[in-house]
Amino acid sequence: MEKSKVLIVGGTGYLGKRLVKASLTEGHETYVLHRPEIGVDIEKVQMLLSFKAQGAHLVASSFDDHRSLVDSVKLVDVVICAISGVHIRSHQILLQLKLVDAIKEAGNLKRFLPSEFGTDPSRMENAMEPGRVTFDDKMAVRKAIQEAGIPFTYVSANCFAGYFLGGLCQPGLILPPRDSVNLLGDGNQKGTSDPQILVANNIWTPYVAKVTLLGVLTHQSEVQLRARAMQVNGQNYAEQVGLTHYFHVCYEGCLTNFEIGDEGEEASKLYPEVKYTNVEDYLKRYI
Ligand code: NDP
Repeated sequence: MEKSKVLIVGGTGYLGKRLVKASLTEGHETYVLHRPEIGVDIEKVQMLLSFKAQGAHLVASSFDDHRSLVDSVKLVDVVICAISGVHIRSHQILLQLKLVDAIKEAGNLKRFLPSEFGTDPSRMENAMEPGRVTFDDKMAVRKAIQEAGIPFTYVSANCFAGYFLGGLCQPGLILPPRDSVNLLGDGNQKGTSDPQILVANNIWTPYVAKVTLLGVLTHQSEVQLRARAMQVNGQNYAEQVGLTHYFHVCYEGCLTNFEIGDEGEEASKLYPEVKYTNVEDYLKRYI
């Protein structure tokens, strides 16, 4: 496989640390952005040092220093951005636009992967308020990338298992509830169209029963979820955004209700050597 020089931005995050590990394992010359703003966050500093010990190069750079960003980009062929998606509306879009400006000025990049890694925002033009902000912001970043003529790959990772499977798709939970489960909808919407990952159409019900040790299983209707989202209106913006995302995934089936078409590629076809963990095996860790 051809080797690249890869810069990972947001390398100490949940996704970013896995990207750094994968890049090193694949033998790419790996650079990790080190922001002075992390200060004395000992966990992050130790993590960066452990990347260095494994062969990564740490690059001192700040989003508040355009020149330092340009210089960092000039070191590599590929930039992968994995900055946080948690701070909705506040800064992910602004930071990524700064990065796009730096990449444009550096002028050397062969490929940029912005911080997407979720639902494909180009299919969410009819998304509900207020959750649509996530998709609108990601589309604004795509527009800037394309207008700047930067070669790109957009990765739509759908739902990460750790965040969604573990909590049986219960908003706010990442461990399975033991006493009762309130499924969003009928539990039949697919989280992925890949038959290697999918156990069966109805992935939830049998496993919910096992994981909860036969606790109470109820279903939450679309109307109930919408009412729940309205209830938190104005009080917890991030929670409300999250609930509307759950609506699109669990009721509309927005992750699989389309054909990929010519503009994209199913990742499992690109990397047939990757062995997947199916849902049944994944959930065994919680039983
Ligand atoms: P994290 O919350 O773990 O944060 C990742 C990194 O973002 C941080 O470690 C930090 O990197 C960087 N960062 C945070 N704040 C700032 C800031 N103000 N300035 C500069 N950098 C900052 O992010 P995740 O790994 O959870 O998310 C990464 C991507 O993955 C997002 O696009 C998110 O939407 C997506 N995602 C998708 C999920 C899914 O189920 N599909 C689930 C979770 C995330 P550092 O300190 O190293 O510079």
